[in-house]
This record gives sequence, structure tokens and C-alpha cells, in this order.
Amino acid sequence: MPRTFTYAVDRTLEPGTRVEVPFGPRRLVGWVLGPSDQPEATEIRTVHRVLEETPSADGELLRLARWVADYYLSSLGMVLRTALPNPMAVAGADRVRTRRVLRLTRDLPTLTLRDELFGNATRQRECYEFVEAAGGAAALASLTEQRFSRSVVRGLVDRGVADVVDEEVERDPFAGMPASEGVRPALTPGQEHVLAPLLSAARGAGGTFLLRGVTGSGKTRVYIELLDELVRNQGRGAIVLVPEIALTPQTVDRFRARFGDDVAVLHSALSEGERYDAWRMLRAGTRRIAVGARSAVFAPVRNLGGIVVDEEHESSYKQGEAPRYHAREVAIMRARMAGAVCVLGSATPALESWANTRRGKYTLLELPARVEGRPLPDVEVVDLRTERASREERGATTDQGALVLSDRLRDAVHERLDRQEQVILLLNRRGYASFVQCRACGHVWQCGRCNVSLTYHRTRRRLICHYCFHDEAPPRQCSQCGEENLSFRGLGTEQVERIVTETFPAASVARMDVDTTSGRWAHHQILDRVGRREIDILLGTQMIAKGLDFHHVTLVGVINADVGLNLPDFRASERTFQLLTQVAGRAGRGDWPGQVIIQTSLPHNLAIRAALSHDYVTYADHELQQRADPPYPPHNRLANVVVSSTDELKVQESAEELAAAAAAIVRRLQTSQIQLLGPAPCAIDRIRERWRWHFLLRSPSAQQLGAVCRTLHHEYGTGKPPTRIIIDRDPVALL
Ligand code: ADP
Ligand code: ZN
Repeated sequence: MPRTFTYAVDRTLEPGTRVEVPFGPRRLVGWVLGPSDQPEATEIRTVHRVLEETPSADGELLRLARWVADYYLSSLGMVLRTALPNPMAVAGADRVRTRRVLRLTRDLPTLTLRDELFGNATRQRECYEFVEAAGGAAALASLTEQRFSRSVVRGLVDRGVADVVDEEVERDPFAGMPASEGVRPALTPGQEHVLAPLLSAARGAGGTFLLRGVTGSGKTRVYIELLDELVRNQGRGAIVLVPEIALTPQTVDRFRARFGDDVAVLHSALSEGERYDAWRMLRAGTRRIAVGARSAVFAPVRNLGGIVVDEEHESSYKQGEAPRYHAREVAIMRARMAGAVCVLGSATPALESWANTRRGKYTLLELPARVEGRPLPDVEVVDLRTERASREERGATTDQGALVLSDRLRDAVHERLDRQEQVILLLNRRGYASFVQCRACGHVWQCGRCNVSLTYHRTRRRLICHYCFHDEAPPRQCSQCGEENLSFRGLGTEQVERIVTETFPAASVARMDVDTTSGRWAHHQILDRVGRREIDILLGTQMIAKGLDFHHVTLVGVINADVGLNLPDFRASERTFQLLTQVAGRAGRGDWPGQVIIQTSLPHNLAIRAALSHDYVTYADHELQQRADPPYPPHNRLANVVVSSTDELKVQESAEELAAAAAAIVRRLQTSQIQLLGPAPCAIDRIRERWRWHFLLRSPSAQQLGAVCRTLHHEYGTGKPPTRIIIDRDPVALL
């Protein structure tokens, strides 16, 4: 609800206290904001029940939540629901201590074996392969979600390939993990140099800092020393934000190693009950450091002294649904309100943050070299166009049309395998083939609900829509012309896996992408095996580009750097540069120098050239210029207004009406610095049966943009069904 309601209560309640109130025929949970200053015309109903003695949202959090609601055009209730543990789930949480799990008991290494065993029981086979991909075990509840019936599960048990077992649900899943730091090397002069201003800010009035340190320069150690001052010396609390906690177990382990039980890890795989426990301990002050992803920015840390935003350029810090907040910006605001230190860290800072250091809003700190004089890896480019041409000349087939491993990359992998070193291969596209096309008439299989092509997933043997998760059986012939010769095009990680295992049969290969990491601790399991050197080649999507610190990885190969470069989004180039630089940074972090091979058809593209020389500053300053005309962030602020409807004819009309209303508001408020672009259909103009149009509001003034958006939101809200309106401030993607 975008507004507040008045109730009677017979005692004084502190703001932020949860209460249960009658609402129409229903009972709802709400937060007390304070005494009402408006006399009510209608009858005032009475609070049914006070749900807590101490308010779950204290004054500091309420203030922050109001700012978020106001800036990102959301209701306060929506923000509080994001910021606090789910009160409903918490009530019953203590009862859920075990859960039922289907665990595979038999390996089926060959396809023939599977064909023989499962015969026509395709659902059983799919279920088996789903559990296999999830790491060998999956909760029955998650199988139900995937629409595998009880009889399918029973079938697997009857065939003797799986068992149903009860698994204990840990309330503190990190409790048993080792937490010892070992030897603590002396800080490098570079680390000392950047730490000094941070420590003095910690002892003074705080401030916002951007720590730009090349990959492997020891940024994490700097965060740890800062926290040591805040937590150990000053007895204050701190928050560490990481882009995705499952992908950064090593970073989390390092905080636990230094601070032990002072750390509460807010892992996305925690149950509601576990999350609530962590939240309660932070609130009570028995744990003083919260480590977590996006929503941990709201953690109820007491006496906040600092917030670290690691890999601050990551777009996962922006929430894709309401409230559409950016955790980095909320962190800066929260730290400012608390007089705390805020450190944004990255090897490839977001251009917004970079521009703020140039404007003197944030203090820039730099770590220009890796620790212990380790060199940055050598990066070279393989031009896929000449590679393809030379193969055709030799008459060599190019792996069914897709060029996966150039000669150069293949030889380099062989070399590493011989020396028992490890390899990381990146391709930022999952599935086997990103589209299926008829060779005769050119027809491409599309989702029936979205305007996107369906991706073929070989493990699950389905065509899947990556937007709405619709799936269907792969076609045997063209639905348009009847042709049986279909081509599976657009290289994905599953196909790379197949070709890599065929090319290097003796190597052990692990694939890490959304499809292999659906199990609760699946990421951990894969990364642990890499750490124990049981894996020779780790391949995957952008998941493997972040924060990993494996000393035996000496080669990183990028299968195709061009994926993502041609998306119709002004940040496409910046994202590609960041991804390439980050993944390159995984090589040569130990005693052996690293090598990086980037395969591309666009070797002269600036994002790729700058990644070759690890030259962030040249890239950033050039890209800043590119975005000056026409102006895009960080030169100005954007709001993306998306209008969608199930009615194809209505949507354009609604979008035009709303844009005209926005233009009228601009005139009325005399906000002269606002430009309106559009309306036009979105790049993906249909998702989940909804047709989509959008327009942009663009302004150098955040205040003016905020005023126009608020008025628009106030007058039109979220739209009248079937039309839906979304106002996305500081959008990270315009698709
Ligand atoms: P970044 O986060 O900048 O990529 P890390 O903090 O992961 O870098 O550090 C890279 C590697 O250097 C890690 O293995 C870490 O243990 C090591 N390291 C960090 N600081 C020091 C130091 N002062 N002396 C020796 N090794 C260090
Ligand atoms: Zn779809």
C-alpha cells in the first residue's frame, strides 16, 4: 500500500513495532510509524495484537527505509518487507528442523546405460539428471517446484538409483566450519598507504572511498584491517556486501578466519529461520559483522562504523523488482546517516563511482600492483575470423559450425594439463545452443509467451525460455515447413563442456552456471573440488569470473568475448570490459605467472583492447567521453518508465498517454533540465505475455528527476490492470 492507515491502540508503541491489524475482512501485519496527526473522518478500528516488545525496525532503519521508498518510488511497507526477515515464516520456523531429500545412489556414467535403464520413462530420466546437475541431492520440495510428481520420484527409488532421506536443517550452517587465519603476512607498503586514510576516517567522521585495486592487489586484507579497527578497537559494527555470497566463499572465509563468531553470514541459501537467527544475533549485538549480498545493507548492525561494498561495479547490487534499490547507493546513504566509513572496492569500478572520484565526491585510493610483486597475467587475442578462415582452407570442420577452441587455446590448455596446473574457461551464455533454426526456411523457435528464442538444454533435453522458464520438447521437424534438418546454433556452456571433454578426455572438467548450481551448497561443492585440485578445467558463465583466488590456475581462456557486446544497452561495452578484466584476474595468483587468451571477432573493440593491457583508466576516461554526447550516466541520471499490458493494442496508447502526462508534469514543475526520450517498444517487447513499451527521463539534476518521478508515481501509481507501470530509477539495464 502506498499510504499509511490509522488505528487505535491503548498504549504507547514505539515506531517500527510490528502489529496485527484488521484490514477489511482480513488481518494484516503492519508497522507502527507514530501517532497520527490527521483526524480521521471514518471510524477508527483497533489494533488486534502487538507482535513484538522491541520494534523490529529501529529509528535508524526507518529513516533509511523512508529514503529508499522516496528515492526509488516504492511504498515504505515494501521496503520494510525487503529489509526485515519475513515475519510470517519466522513464526513457524523453529518447527522446520529436517527436510526430505532425494539422493542419488547410483552413478550412470554413459548415455547407453541411461537409455537402457530408463527406456520410455523420460520424466524419471529428467528427474535423475536434474538431481545430478544439482550435485547429487535435491529437496523433495524443489522437485515438486520442477513439476516432478511423486510417482516419478518413487520410480527412481524403485529402480534402485536413488533414496529418499531426511536431512537435518542446520540453524547455523557455518558453525562447524574451520575458522583460523594461519600466518598473517605483513601488510605491503601499498596496503599501508591506502589503509591510513581509512583508519583516520574511522576514527573521525567517516566518508566515502573508492578503492581501485587491480585483481590480486590485496583489497580484502585492507577491508579486514579496517574492520579490525572498527570492531575490535572501537567496539562498533560493520557490514560487508559481496555480489553473490555463494560465489565468494573464499572472501567470506577470510572474514570468518579473522573475526570468528563476530561474523553473521547472511547466505541466500539460508532458510527463513536461519536468516532470522542471524538477524536476531546482529540486533542483539552478539554478532557485530554482517556479511551478505544486496539486502544485507539493511542488516540490523548496532553502532554502525563502516560498510564495505566489494566488487562495487556488479549489477547484482541492483534489485530487479520493487523496491528497485541499488545496494551500493543505499550503503553510501546509510553510512552517511551513521557517520560511518563506506568503502567501495573494485578492479573495474562502475563509471558512476569513477566519475564521483573525479568530481571529488568520493576519495580515490589505489592499489596499482599485485601483492609480492606478482605480475598481472599476459593477455593475448585470437581473432576468430582468421581462425575460421584458416580452418576452412584446411578443410577442417569447425565443431559443427561453432568454433570453440582455437589451435592456440587448445595447445595452451594441453600445456597446463601436462604441468598439472589448472584452467578456467569462460563463456557467458548457458545452455547448449541459444537458438534452434530450420535449415530450409530459417524459422527460429520462440517462446510462446516472450519475444525471445528458446535455448536448447542438452542435459535436460528441453527447449527453455530464459525469461519465463517455459520449457518444451525439442522439435524433430520444422513446424512451418516440415523440414527435418534443423540446426542448433549459438554456442552455450553445455556445448563447450561437450567439446572440451572430447578434446581433453583425460582431464576432469566441471561446469559452473545457473543449471549446475541449483542445489543449496552446489557452488561450494564445485569450488571446493577446484581448491583441492580435483578439477583441471573449470568452465562456466560470469559466475566464475568473480573473486576466486586459486593459486594453481595459470590459464584463463575466453571462448567468445563478443557475447554481450552487441546488446542494445549503453553499458554493454563497460560490462564486457569488466567481465574480461575480472576473469583475466583469476590467472597467475600464485607463484606461477598467468596467461589469458581471449577469442573474439572484434579484436579492435576498445573494451577488448583495454582488457589486454589491464588499462582501466584509459578505458574509463574514453568511455566517459563516449557517453557525453548523447548524454548518458554518469553525466546525468535516468529513469526508465516501462509500460506493459497483455493487450497489444492498448500498450502503445497507454505508453503515449503516460509520456504525455510526464511531459506535462515537466512543464508544470518547471523542471527545465529534464529530457524525455520515447516512447518506443522495449528491446524485448514481450515477456510473460505482456507487451512492453518504455520511455526515458533524463536529467543532470537528481532532484528534478526525483520530483517528476514522484509526481508521476503519485498520479498514476502502478497502473490500472491490465496495464502496469514500472518506474526504474538509475536502471542497470534497458532491455
Ligand atoms: P583482491 O581482492 O585485490 O583481488 P586479495 O585480497 O584476494 O586481492 O589478495 C590476493 C592474494 O594475495 C590472496 O591470496 C591474499 O591472501 C594475498 N595477500 C593479501 N595481502 C597480502 C600481503 N600483505 N602479503 C602477502 N600476501 C597477501
Ligand atoms: Zn518465455
